[in-house]
Amino acid sequence: MTSKFSYQCSDCGLQIPAGEIIYLCPNCSAKQLPDKPPLGVLKVVYDYNLLSNLSFRELEENDFLQLLPLNDRKSFPNLHVGQTPLYEIHSLDGETNDFELYLKDDSQNPTFSFKDRASAVVSAFAKENGIDTIVAASTGNAGSSLAGICAAQGQKAVIFVPATAPKAKLTQIMMYGATLVPVAGNYDKAFDLSIEATKRFGWYNRNTAFNPFTIEGKKTVSFELYSQLKEQIPDYIFVPVGDGVIISGVFKGFEDLLELGIIEKMPVIIAVQAARSSNLADNIGKEEFVSTPSDTIADSISVDIPRNFNMAAGYITKYDGQTITVSDDDILRASLKLAKNTGIFTEPAAAAAFAGFLTYKNRYLIPKGSVSVVLLTGSGLKDLNAVQSLFEIPLPVSADMTSVEKFLKDKI
Ligand SMILES: *Cc1c(COP(=O)(O)O)cnc(C)c1O
Repeated sequence: MTSKFSYQCSDCGLQIPAGEIIYLCPNCSAKQLPDKPPLGVLKVVYDYNLLSNLSFRELEENDFLQLLPLNDRKSFPNLHVGQTPLYEIHSLDGETNDFELYLKDDSQNPTFSFKDRASAVVSAFAKENGIDTIVAASTGNAGSSLAGICAAQGQKAVIFVPATAPKAKLTQIMMYGATLVPVAGNYDKAFDLSIEATKRFGWYNRNTAFNPFTIEGKKTVSFELYSQLKEQIPDYIFVPVGDGVIISGVFKGFEDLLELGIIEKMPVIIAVQAARSSNLADNIGKEEFVSTPSDTIADSISVDIPRNFNMAAGYITKYDGQTITVSDDDILRASLKLAKNTGIFTEPAAAAAFAGFLTYKNRYLIPKGSVSVVLLTGSGLKDLNAVQSLFEIPLPVSADMTSVEKFLKDKI
């Protein structure tokens, strides 16, 4: 059977026709070295020539199904995934911006993170192919996302996480009725075990930088941005980066539009990493990949070996992307500034993207009249512990007006 898509190895370029379920390039993954980024992550490619007669609007009216590995929009979960708000922010701390700043609020997805875009496509593919159990290894968000999406679809989810994942994320996984496997070890251990279990039990695996369809789900944010900005390309997009899958998805979405002749240039896409987890930023262009142990409050981007390093680094190099790092202190301050100025409370990984924007603005200047987008990838309610150091919740006030007045003195 011919398929509308095929796979291309992001390392050796090998073309593989769609057919049996496949995860990595067989040639490259066989050469995998320990403690190095995974080899052979596959990219999904379409027959762009065939599709190039379609306008952006025609693609959009069909939910971009032509650019997804799916046949029927009814395969998607009956939840509001994607189509998240894009807010324009006119001023910060009382100062009017002389540039356009937009926040793409992906904490508004059903399980409160960007990961739902990937889970929805993987789950829909499983539905179209008669698969009923999906497994994922996760630091928290991918797992809680898959659990929620599977709950909506009547599918079974098995989630491997490091036992230290934030409680809200573990709670979500349990509430959605998934099977939670907390592993006494780090994310890499959970990842390896989930792959062994996939083979042992014949499940379908959603792991990021392993299942090629996660990037196909993640790229939908670029189509939305293009539509919400009235078919304009922003100048800058700030993306928080851990494994480098979201940012590859952002590149891939615009690259698809480029291949179709819908757009003529790429936006400048900026990878924002925590200074204490900067293994992607530090290793781009280096002869040999050397990992530094990560240690940041932004758990969703705390990564020792970015699993999608090769593809993300390739995109950043090819399309003149940039990297920037921000300290944990920058992240916390940006988180508070964002919440106070906009009413959007994000988890630290997402606040890192905003911190990246602020740092970039101070260091290089954001040109007058330019258009920037900051990708906010997860809700602040997912990790309340992370921001506790920013304030103290006041002690109770006696229940009488005199005490209240005294309490409010100097406060308002
Ligand atoms: C997963 C995640 C990221 C980072 O995505 P990568 O693909 O690992 O680079 C950023 N923010 C949030 C909230 C996430 O859940």
